Amino acid sequence: MGIVTVVTNMNYLVLDQLAEASRSFGLDVHIFNLGTYTNDSIVARQKQYMKEKLDTDVDCLAAYNTGYNLNIDGEKLHAILKRMHNTDYGHPIITVPALNPEKTHTYYADLETPVRNHCIVPWCQTNINYNGDVHFCADYPDYILGSIKTQSFTEIYNGDRANRFRKAIRESEGGMFPGCLRCYQNMLFGKKIKGY
Ligand code: SF4
Repeated sequence: MGIVTVVTNMNYLVLDQLAEASRSFGLDVHIFNLGTYTNDSIVARQKQYMKEKLDTDVDCLAAYNTGYNLNIDGEKLHAILKRMHNTDYGHPIITVPALNPEKTHTYYADLETPVRNHCIVPWCQTNINYNGDVHFCADYPDYILGSIKTQSFTEIYNGDRANRFRKAIRESEGGMFPGCLRCYQNMLFGKKIKGY
């Protein structure tokens, strides 16, 4: 059994207390998820980009504009996470996504500044929806690659729509779409990086 705690501006100062409170639960793992955030301007840029490059209307991304990142003091959070990772709670503490701990402040305070680049997710994995639709990432389910109800997975994975998406990423600045500045999926499955 494990717990996933999503870091927000309502709980970030007491994460160590949450970790301490779960000490007696006999957990296998306690995961601290830094959360995915965006803002209006990033969403607008990505909508325009996806329309131009992939002729797709993006509706999902705006849902990450929650405001839960606002006023998080990354220096304080960094100190708390560091302390937690040096404490034995009787079970592993994992902070995801992995990012350079020195960039914790940037992660929350300056969403316009990349903390990772070069998305490789469309070369590694896909998502399959309940209705059979296949898409690459949780942020853009609007760009459907095909349906496993009518096509083989290999056909979809190597198909024209998949390759068009990959090509658009390769041609984007820094190997990443403008809307992907805090993409959780890329940080989980992308290039390995030493985090906390
Ligand atoms: S960075 Fe994330 S949202 Fe953007 S294309 Fe890659 S997996 Fe999808």
